[in-house]
Amino acid sequence: MDRSVCVIGGGIAGAGAALALPDALDVTVFESRAVGGRLASRRREGCIYDVGTDHVLLADGDLRELVADAAGDSLVEIDRPVKQFDADGTISERPAEFPRFSGRDGIDTLVQSLFETSGARIEEGATVTALDRRGGQWVVTAAGHRRAFDAAVLAVPAAAAVVLFEGADWDATLRRELARAADDIAHRSIDVVALHYPFAFGADYYGLVSIERASDVVWMGREQCKRGHVPDGESVLTLQLGSLWSAANANASARETAIESAHYVARLVGDDRLREPDWWDHHRWGQGVPTDGVDAALYERPLEFGLAIAGDWVADVGQAHAALASGLRAGRQLAERFGSDPGA
Ligand SMILES: Cc1cc2nc3c(=O)[nH]c(=O)nc-3n(C[C@H](O)[C@H](O)[C@H](O)COP(=O)(O)OP(=O)(O)OC[C@H]3O[C@@H](n4cnc5c(N)ncnc54)[C@H](O)[C@@H]3O)c2cc1C
Repeated sequence: MDRSVCVIGGGIAGAGAALALPDALDVTVFESRAVGGRLASRRREGCIYDVGTDHVLLADGDLRELVADAAGDSLVEIDRPVKQFDADGTISERPAEFPRFSGRDGIDTLVQSLFETSGARIEEGATVTALDRRGGQWVVTAAGHRRAFDAAVLAVPAAAAVVLFEGADWDATLRRELARAADDIAHRSIDVVALHYPFAFGADYYGLVSIERASDVVWMGREQCKRGHVPDGESVLTLQLGSLWSAANANASARETAIESAHYVARLVGDDRLREPDWWDHHRWGQGVPTDGVDAALYERPLEFGLAIAGDWVADVGQAHAALASGLRAGRQLAERFGSDPGA
């Protein structure tokens, strides 16, 4: 019978793990909601906009090739550059540029296509509530059912990992250490606002990034630069608000947040039309990105039990390409344990 592996978490780290696990293994992915995780997109009135990760940086040629092969047509490169702005709102060129990508039908479809290529069985709406060790196997409880696997990849955010470490009944000392370390990781929340306009807003850049950490708006992207996202003659701007703004305005309504963002961006780019979007959207990511890292060696220790751990918090960088690389690494580590060709 095929040996079985479960991947817990259907974000880009889980997708990396599923891709790296050889075809000879029987792989099941458990995802609480829908695959994509913080690579999240929304759809409204013919527009697609990314409300979590804005784009994936694929500066590393090997990683870019792997994603291009696995994602095929759903990968779209954003060909306009990103510029920067300072506290006075002065816009200037950035010293270095990197290749940036989204998904043609939304950045979430990029993750979906990686999972499809992996051939793993995906179970969406399946929150794993317990991860136990019994008779040399991992027993997963999801949606009230228990299933045993020969190995597991834990690819959930740190807070969810803490819950599973605390509840598990294997090596008590190690899992307590893992839970404590994961619990210590600080995160920053991020508010994302999308603003829609029934006219084209042209510029010679794709996005603007703030060079001031304390800025109210730290990022503005033009979704119309992502092929397939916005019909001609319309514009969707996505803004990420700074953590200081989010902390100071924790009780602001979504409407107030959207209006304030629209006024900010109109001032920044000097175009008064942008003060009045015809519709808008808002999402707050409570634990948006980890702000500090972990002792990577600690998270290698469960490998001896056939458990690999992946995610941006393990990768030490709160970015999608790092989460993907950590998932690929987790999958390869388990493949090596099984003595299989990791690239198969
Ligand atoms: C607003 C925002 C903007 C960002 N912008 C960028 C950017 O432009 N570029 C960039 O590189 N990075 C960006 N990032 C960071 C990037 O989104 C993350 O680093 C990356 O998505 C992390 O991927 P992951 O797979 O580790 O985690 P996630 O994407 O969080 O995936 C984990 C998955 O596990 C699932 N899950 C949780 N608990 C369970 C459970 N018990 N059972 C089953 N499933 C479970 C979750 O539903 C989720 O789908 C941004 C993040 C935010 C919030």
